[in-house]
Amino acid sequence: MYSKPFNKKIIHGVCTDLSFEGKGVLKDKDGVIFVNGMFPGEEGDVEVLYSRAGVSFAKLKKLNKKSDDRIEPRCPVSFSCGGCCFQSLAYPAQLLYKSKKVKEQFRKIGGLDVEVRPTLGMDDPYNYRNKIQMPFSLDNKGNVVSGFFKEGTHKVIPVESCSIEDKRSEKILASIRHLCASMRIFPYDEDTGRGILRHVLIKTSFHHEEIMVVIVTAVDSFPSRNNFVKQLLKENPEISTIVQNINQRKTNVIFGDVTKNLYGKGYIRDSLLGVEFSISAKSFYQTNPVMTEVLYTEAIKAAMITKDDVVFDAYSGIGTIGLIAASKAKEVISVEIVKEAVRDAQSNAKRNGITNFTSILGDAGEVARAMARDKKNISVLFMDPPRKGSDENFLNAVKTLKPSRIVYVSCDPSTLARDCKYLSDQYVINSVQPVDLFPQTYHVETVVAMSLKNNDKRLIKQLNVNS
Ligand code: SAH
Repeated sequence: MYSKPFNKKIIHGVCTDLSFEGKGVLKDKDGVIFVNGMFPGEEGDVEVLYSRAGVSFAKLKKLNKKSDDRIEPRCPVSFSCGGCCFQSLAYPAQLLYKSKKVKEQFRKIGGLDVEVRPTLGMDDPYNYRNKIQMPFSLDNKGNVVSGFFKEGTHKVIPVESCSIEDKRSEKILASIRHLCASMRIFPYDEDTGRGILRHVLIKTSFHHEEIMVVIVTAVDSFPSRNNFVKQLLKENPEISTIVQNINQRKTNVIFGDVTKNLYGKGYIRDSLLGVEFSISAKSFYQTNPVMTEVLYTEAIKAAMITKDDVVFDAYSGIGTIGLIAASKAKEVISVEIVKEAVRDAQSNAKRNGITNFTSILGDAGEVARAMARDKKNISVLFMDPPRKGSDENFLNAVKTLKPSRIVYVSCDPSTLARDCKYLSDQYVINSVQPVDLFPQTYHVETVVAMSLKNNDKRLIKQLNVNS
């Protein structure tokens, strides 16, 4: 447990570094102090909020010396919302931090000294997110508000305009807030279990004029539902589909099992590197469409695919990487655990006339084990697991399958470093390329290219083909 100091504890100090979570790091005689929104080289007063065993979390009170990289944040709630810890840090400094962080995690967690390339960034690092996801609540005055949970709590910080999200969502959310208030569709209250509306998700297509609104409710049907849909469409004719997801459980997980189509097709279309995708409410789809193309270009380049290759796309979501790789490969097999995403992957293959692609529903580890048992010949593996990384089941199966190249796409450098270390007895790391899919935040996506040790002949052959 962390404890609050009895008396206000103000410390004067110098920020020497940024932590893994983008917080300023200060050191004093009692240990290390993490401060939101303080950057290396800055000096000032911080107020300690919580401490435990030499680790404290503090709030910046007064700055005596500012970093040259400090800028005015665009967002008025960037401090309280907690989503964008780098709104006050100039973009080039954010990119430098991300490469350094990846290198540090490889050293600390993987015990590996790797060369990390400069992070690829955006020309305009704002309003890039194609998915917004907001909890709804009532404020003290009984107004319907939507926003983000205050860091570490379930209190909603009202946000009417967010500088990293697609501008088209703002107006739709404002409509939903006022329609809910006028139709008495009350936000769900976690403590009492009363109320209807839990979350709203808005997914916007980058290449098509298509927008999906997902209403997550605590109940199946609710009064005025048809009227609500009608009014929402009247005020926002740009919406192409509205779906309702029902989540009756007392849980932090956003989605429940049942999804109902209230208007339109129930999915939106978007395209990446010339391949078209349909995306349904529960399917994962990268949130930065501009940088996803950069990410996938790096991943496909790193895989050096030829027409002889059998490609395994693990943790495939709606099949994006595998479907883009398919035109270069002999065959692509993808695996994904979310049923709706597999359905999307299969229809995406059909939609694009791709016939050398199969999508399997299941746990990546189990499917990889079955492939290893069947002595399936896999030459290239793409793996893009969620933040918690992969598991030994999957990685052991990979060591049996022995693909000559692995391209690991990761959104968490620490689990990436852990998994790369696990593979490092059989694989060498050839390149580490961070890509900034999440400007203004401390998150970073990384593409790591690996090749099987003692596989030089095959690799040289591949290099010749690609050169
Ligand atoms: N490669 C995709 C998706 C990456 S996100 C893209 O770039 O869009 C990670 C995906 O792994 C999610 O779709 C998630 O549903 C899936 N996943 C999580 N655990 C899994 C498991 N054990 N086996 C297979 N897929 C899993």
